[in-house]
Amino acid sequence: MLSGVSAQPDIWAPLVDKFNRRHTYLRVSLTDRCNFRCVYCMPADGVDVKPKDEILSFEEIVRLTQVFARLGVDKVRLTGGEPTVRKGLDGLMRDLTAIPGIDRLLMTTNGSTLATHAQIYRDAGLNGLNISIDSLKPERFAEITRGADLSRVLNGIDAALAAGYDSIKINVVLMSGVNEDELCDFVQFAVDRKTHVRFIEFMPFVGNGWDKGGVVPYKQMRSTIENKFKLEVIETEKSAVAKEFSVAGTAGSVGFVTSVTDDFCNGCNRIRLTAEGQIKTCLFLLAGTSLRDMVRSGASDDELAVAIRTALMTKWAGHPPMERLIGLDDRAMVQIGG
Ligand code: SAM
Repeated sequence: MLSGVSAQPDIWAPLVDKFNRRHTYLRVSLTDRCNFRCVYCMPADGVDVKPKDEILSFEEIVRLTQVFARLGVDKVRLTGGEPTVRKGLDGLMRDLTAIPGIDRLLMTTNGSTLATHAQIYRDAGLNGLNISIDSLKPERFAEITRGADLSRVLNGIDAALAAGYDSIKINVVLMSGVNEDELCDFVQFAVDRKTHVRFIEFMPFVGNGWDKGGVVPYKQMRSTIENKFKLEVIETEKSAVAKEFSVAGTAGSVGFVTSVTDDFCNGCNRIRLTAEGQIKTCLFLLAGTSLRDMVRSGASDDELAVAIRTALMTKWAGHPPMERLIGLDDRAMVQIGG
């Protein structure tokens, strides 16, 4: 071997997995707690939430995000649980957006704090919001969330739309016999507010009573909408999770997240960090290496980078059909971080 030429792989090279997928998108769960108890996300008996000291501190999240950024991650999404239950979130947002290489900071939220905080988060550097809302009918909304107040979320959406975000998406989990009759109402909602609504196929997680009959397949959603609205395809990147359409003649648009009937594993560029700091390479694979434990026992950035690369090599080409995923992970969605 020539002197000076190392046989060691470059530990700081971009995060490419065994299937040549480059990972540039980190999803960080800030907490396993939520102030809503949505039926498709949280089991009826609730979940055992972790003690506070088992959850990553903001300092630890910033340190780990710095390491991911050096590995080529340029986009971060904060999620949970409900990320906005953590105090001082705007400070975390400022610290994350200051990290060299992080170009986009996004958050998925149930909207409950946005009426008062949408502008604060925007001013702290947050670029975009996905806001979950599964019914426009107050009673049904309260049933799905087990008690939340629809008007609070609607006010939150209005505040977010006024706050000058680059991107706002309204997330709706469409479930057969629950809210599928509101499909066109949600499209009209997006048209009226010149925004984007995304319909997510209902996925199985522990304790959410999933069965295939509860899923409203993409093709069915699309044809129902097309009876009333004209949809025009919007071209998206290979890594996009949603099939997107503009609603012709309006400023509204629609997307479909087809995780059940047509998965998008081929272009997956996502890696997740659970609230306790474990790496999760797929929503449906068990959480692995604890980066929290490594950080707390004094690991160097090089050691963290190697651990992340090693974990990524366990990522599968794609997840099996949804029926076979039930019971594979013992966590409810609220504990995983959506
Ligand atoms: N609390 C935040 C919220 O409500 O958006 C963030 C966490 S939540 C787990 C993230 C996203 O996952 C939400 O848009 C939610 O609708 C979606 N989600 C949760 N459980 C789901 C399921 N079983 N199938 C499909 N989407 C689900």
